Amino acid sequence: MGSAAPGSDYRPRVLVVEDETAIVEAVRYALDLEGFQVASATNGREGLEAARRWSPALVLLDVMLPGMSGLDVCRQLRRESDVPIIMLTAKEGEADKVAGLELGADDYMTKPFSMRELVARVRAQIRRSAKSGALADANEILRGGSIELDVDAHEVRVEGHPVPLRPKEFDLLESLMRRKGRLATRDALIDEVWGPEYFGATKTLDVHIKRLRQKLDPSGTRQILTVRGLGYKFVDEPA
Ligand code: CA
Repeated sequence: MGSAAPGSDYRPRVLVVEDETAIVEAVRYALDLEGFQVASATNGREGLEAARRWSPALVLLDVMLPGMSGLDVCRQLRRESDVPIIMLTAKEGEADKVAGLELGADDYMTKPFSMRELVARVRAQIRRSAKSGALADANEILRGGSIELDVDAHEVRVEGHPVPLRPKEFDLLESLMRRKGRLATRDALIDEVWGPEYFGATKTLDVHIKRLRQKLDPSGTRQILTVRGLGYKFVDEPA
């Protein structure tokens, strides 16, 4: 599995093992927009082969597959690798979720699921596995002034108090804090948070920065500085 170096042209690979074409296409579209490479397989054996050959960063695995079931694929995959696996289960398949997790799946999603939710879970799993590969179990906490960002717990605290952030806000703050004291260009931030394939308005970035500032410090002293025409900079001391 490749390392998830952000900011490069690295596009994480996601393998979708699912026999329902409509779901495969919707997932492919959503993940592609977010900067992932997507391959698909329509049955378990193909899925296993693709996982071995293509070395995906994550596998989305349907439980109900023709022939070899998703649970059997999960069991076999787990014997061979630590690739994160998200199971896709039917609403009534409560037992499948438990079985999947017991067999070593990392997460599951119940159909029908929103693509936004899917993308968030995929990102979270890939981030987690990239980290555990690189740093074993080190619990990484980024600090700057009164702000703490706990990468693994996915939690932000200001003066020790948790501040709930949306997924993109969290990713954005993480990108900024990893460059503490240095310029984070608009391109780099958009690339890391929304993915290199993102062609939306760059105003989205400013809106998220604004919300972050409001949430992190409603009173107005600021640790996220605007670098005019270039991007933003996170600093220890409020300006
Ligand atoms: Ca299916």
